[in-house]
Amino acid sequence: MTTEDLRPGDALLIVDVQNDFCPGGALPIPEGDRIVPVLNRWIEAAERSDIPVYLSRDWHPRGHPSFASEGGAWPVHCLQDTEGAAFHADLRVPAAALVVTKGTRFDQDQYSAFDQTGLHSRLAKDGVRRLWIGGLAQDVCVRASTLDALDLGYAAMLIPGASLPGTEEGGREALREMAEAGGASGGAAGRN
Ligand SMILES: [Zn+2]
Repeated sequence: MTTEDLRPGDALLIVDVQNDFCPGGALPIPEGDRIVPVLNRWIEAAERSDIPVYLSRDWHPRGHPSFASEGGAWPVHCLQDTEGAAFHADLRVPAAALVVTKGTRFDQDQYSAFDQTGLHSRLAKDGVRRLWIGGLAQDVCVRASTLDALDLGYAAMLIPGASLPGTEEGGREALREMAEAGGASGGAAGRN
């Protein structure tokens, strides 16, 4: 799988490549920033071929239920309008890219870029049938977004080398789940 495989009806879905998920951030994925140059190559190729690019971001209000202080599983991260919530500075963000904001609810977390964001409607309007997915973390929000994409009937491909997990074990399990779901729906979640 290379950028040569991009074709009409495809789109890129880049999940949560934000400072807080990279080394030095509040909830860092080991070597998370290593995927940025890979993603940039795919984003450039997408731009050349008029393939749409969607970027999701975790975008929490203060007091979000996912925070440990509120009984959730995570330290405070990706607070709205902070540097931690900004996309990694080296990530190529096309002017035409659409940003999908999630994690804004006070009553639940949203791991998937499809979870009550309207993304499915937008993709349908844009004629998207196949998604190339990358980002952070492979075993949390990339996993949830990919499983939802497959469930919604998209073909979903993991961009090789463009996602990393919070833990190695979590990553192995997520890759297995995504591959199994892909087989069941006729799509394919590629291995990194
Ligand atoms: Zn979050």
